Amino acid sequence: MENCIFCKIARGEIPSQKVYEDDEILVFKDINPLTKIHLLCIPKEHFKTVAELDDARAALLGRALQKIGAHASAWGLADGYRLVMNQGEAAGQSVPHLHIHILGGEPLSWEK
Ligand code: 5GP
Ligand code: ZN
Repeated sequence: MENCIFCKIARGEIPSQKVYEDDEILVFKDINPLTKIHLLCIPKEHFKTVAELDDARAALLGRALQKIGAHASAWGLADGYRLVMNQGEAAGQSVPHLHIHILGGEPLSWEK
């Protein structure tokens, strides 16, 4: 996607603070952190929501979760963290490229 901000980050056209990268996913620091540690995990392939998962994308998303689980401690999240995926504008999705928020580094409440 030509004008997608996360595609541009994945292509290296917009700088980001990467903490993990392989050929199919990227994890980088959120520019406006909501918690002490706030990372974003994206597939490099552009699609918007889980409604667009075919078998290959479902497997890709599974591997993304696997990488998060494997690296969370190294990112300072050994005490626990929250994964959030906003699906659609009404749920607060502002960037239409699937991403997993990784939130932690401090105690998190579960209240509105
Ligand atoms: P959403 O609201 O779509 O669930 O989450 C999008 C997230 O992307 C927000 O937390 C926002 O701070 C982050 N974000 C938007 N633009 C950029 C950017 O250019 N660089 C980085 N690192 N994060 C961004
Ligand atoms: Zn994109």
